[in-house]
Amino acid sequence: MTAKAKILIVEDEEPISNFIETTLKANDYSVICAKNGQEALSMIPSHCPDLILLDLGLPDIDGITILKQLRTWTSTPVIVVSARGDEADKVEALDIGADDYIVKPFGTSELLARIRTAIRHSTSTHSGTTETLFCVKGLKIDFQKRLVTIDANEVHLTQIEFKIVSLLARSAGRVLTYDNIITELWGPYAIKDNQILRVNMANIRRKLEKNPAAPEYIFTEVGIGYRMAEE
Ligand code: CA
Repeated sequence: MTAKAKILIVEDEEPISNFIETTLKANDYSVICAKNGQEALSMIPSHCPDLILLDLGLPDIDGITILKQLRTWTSTPVIVVSARGDEADKVEALDIGADDYIVKPFGTSELLARIRTAIRHSTSTHSGTTETLFCVKGLKIDFQKRLVTIDANEVHLTQIEFKIVSLLARSAGRVLTYDNIITELWGPYAIKDNQILRVNMANIRRKLEKNPAAPEYIFTEVGIGYRMAEE
């Protein structure tokens, strides 16, 4: 089993939200929901979704404002969900960094196809290349399948652990500071609490390293951050 991609549905109309949630869960996505803009903005930094489905017409903050705010700190793929006739909003959303859009009412297969494409694109964009595999010694990371193996044995990482490992792997050989990592994972407004990162790293090492006290893959740069071994 690979780690499921987590999708945040931002939608105030419950029947639509329920429909999307059911569809996505049936297709093996992990789903979280926000009913309005405030809720979405507070959930995104803490839940780190892999993709956001953003309704443009929300009761409190409009979708465009949310997207603008998001794009100041994250490139998490956003698919905007618009009502028919919202042409101007849709274009504006794409101009300011939405990855795609879908118009209500939409079918299941269309929704799933949009999501797959956006996630695939963001995965290859983040790597800076079309690289989908990272290998060093016995460690292998398949970024698209979200699969981590050690000597061909699957390692079960949580979403956050996988994100940390992927981030380090994509910068293998370079030190990433605690702040770099926290900002990348939780946004620039996150409390710079290295303790959370340390706890996650301890768990990652327990899962990856034969001897966590003498790591082969992820090294600690004391007082600075972490560094992934290079191929
Ligand atoms: Ca709405």
